[in-house]
Amino acid sequence: MLRSSTPSTFLTEPITLEVDILVVDDTPENLRLLCTLLSRQGYRVRKAISGEMAIIAAQSAVPDLILLDIMMPTMSGYEVCQQLKANPVTADIPIIFLSALNEPFDKVTAFQAGGSDYITKPYQFEEVLARVNHQILLRLAMKKIHRLNAELERRVEERTQALECANAKLLKLALNDSLTGLPNRVQFMQQLEQVLHESQVNGQKQFAVLFLDCDRFKVVNDSLGHAAGDHLLLAIAQRLHHCLAPTGTLARFGGDEFAILIPQMEEVDWAIQQAKAVLQAMEPPFHLEAQTIFVTVSIGIVLGSHDYERAEHLMRDADTAMYQAKLTGRGHYRLFEPTMHMAALQQLELESALRRAITQSEFQVYYQPIVNLQKGVIAGFEALIRWLHPEKGLISPAEFIPTAEETGLIVPIGYWILQTACEQLQQWQQQFSPNLSISVNVSARQFTDTRLIEQIDNTLANTQIGPDCLKLEITESAIMDNPELAKATLEQLRKRQVQLSIDDFGTGYSSLSYLHSFPVNTLKIDRSFIQRIDRDCDKPGLVPVIINIAKSMGIDVIAEGIETSIQLQQLKQLCCDFGQGFLFSKPLNAAEAAQLLAQNPHW
Ligand code: C2E
Ligand code: MG
Ligand code: MG
Repeated sequence: MLRSSTPSTFLTEPITLEVDILVVDDTPENLRLLCTLLSRQGYRVRKAISGEMAIIAAQSAVPDLILLDIMMPTMSGYEVCQQLKANPVTADIPIIFLSALNEPFDKVTAFQAGGSDYITKPYQFEEVLARVNHQILLRLAMKKIHRLNAELERRVEERTQALECANAKLLKLALNDSLTGLPNRVQFMQQLEQVLHESQVNGQKQFAVLFLDCDRFKVVNDSLGHAAGDHLLLAIAQRLHHCLAPTGTLARFGGDEFAILIPQMEEVDWAIQQAKAVLQAMEPPFHLEAQTIFVTVSIGIVLGSHDYERAEHLMRDADTAMYQAKLTGRGHYRLFEPTMHMAALQQLELESALRRAITQSEFQVYYQPIVNLQKGVIAGFEALIRWLHPEKGLISPAEFIPTAEETGLIVPIGYWILQTACEQLQQWQQQFSPNLSISVNVSARQFTDTRLIEQIDNTLANTQIGPDCLKLEITESAIMDNPELAKATLEQLRKRQVQLSIDDFGTGYSSLSYLHSFPVNTLKIDRSFIQRIDRDCDKPGLVPVIINIAKSMGIDVIAEGIETSIQLQQLKQLCCDFGQGFLFSKPLNAAEAAQLLAQNPHW
């Protein structure tokens, strides 16, 4: 059951508390009577004896309710009410009119003036109280609603601010690199798009992009760990920042890559000055965890022009120029030239042509005899790949092996050569001599490929040639770039009795010390040493030294690239075991090589 008469259950506090009522009446007696009665109820009551006083009192302290007499000498209750309603400060105060006038017209006028209620005199005090309570209840409820509304608005405002703040943080995260705080690739590209757009509008505008890549940074990461790598990157970022042109933007692209945008240049030279400043800034060593580290960067520069349609194309060219700078050596800058783009395109073209060559069987194996120098007879052959391009004709391996390595295509190609060369050897062994051997080149990429051993097992099983008739030629760097991995592979090869030759010996690490730790059977002395023999007849250089050391270790020696009989005589005198070169024969196709074998030549 609801007790409507207990307002406190609704408002939770006694309604008379702190409630301020203004009573307005020009008859002092009426005024006193009403005030006394209301005060007894616990209301705080103020009095006004005229309309003017009432307005001043209401404005100086806004009451919760006004009881207003209508008929007063100088200003009527209606007028007072209208003035109060017209002022925003007092407009919300509920007003109950008190009057002896009892015509419906008067009541209507009272409500039109803005009154909330109307009591006719003479009145029953209970009625006054009930109506007063009712208005006060409404008033307090309104106040509470206002307060709650204000609170709600404040909270919404707070949440909005928090969201805006979070948004700003997210935006910062999305556009900045977390390690260095520099703009990231996304932000850089946005700025570059903008600058490119401006240049398309204003054809005179000059700008430039520098693409920076730290040289051999991987070595730092691998040897000192990633935490140290991060410290170093931070230090690098700081140095770059210090030498940055005033209007330039420096961004980290990820890893050890940075980019600089010069959005406005008076002269092209500015970009080059910036590159030089970067290279100079990197000269002093970095000190990290008691280590002294020298860092160089390679820089590709592309000069912006409105001919570019997209920002990515500028970055692509800056990257190409950077790659060219790297090829020049560490710590260089290169300006992009359109021919570089052509070269990059050709590279791509070569790659897809190589893929086609595999499926279209465009490769051939050529064979170059390896001669036993003491006996003067053919001991075996080196298998050398040739590419018979449908349009370009015969392409030498130097032109496509590097790309085949980079793309990993060397793995399937290498397997095909191994298989083909071994099949050929098996045939020749049956036809001519069971002692013939075959040398097959294995590139660094193949050598670290886990499938190599499996490929060799398959080939040996398929062809049934003796494993010691198969010689794999690898370069020193294939071993030294990853000695641990190489050791495991070499161990597998040794177990199978497959032979191992070091190709181009003398051009790489040229260190004999590692020969102790690896199961090497043969050294192939590089052609460049052999060609020096007859030019400086009295100075045979390193060749005798290499031969002597190899022999003392039980390792055979093959001299590569013998072209003259003087070279041959010298090598024979030095007791070099084997030789290979144009003097004996150029690389031949299978039919020609078989012909040569049939002639059984002696040199
Ligand atoms: P390489 O293994 O050192 O091969 C010897 C190269 O020297 C061959 O060049 C051969 O034709 C050349 N040559 C031999 N005798 C003479 C000579 O008296 N004078 C001169 N000027 N050159 C001579 P080619 O066939 O052009 O091969 C070049 C390189 O390409 C090879 O050097 C080898 O590193 C690589 N290669 C060739 N075939 C293969 C292959 O099947 N697989 C892999 N991974 N690499 C291969
Ligand atoms: Mg070779
Ligand atoms: Mg060689």
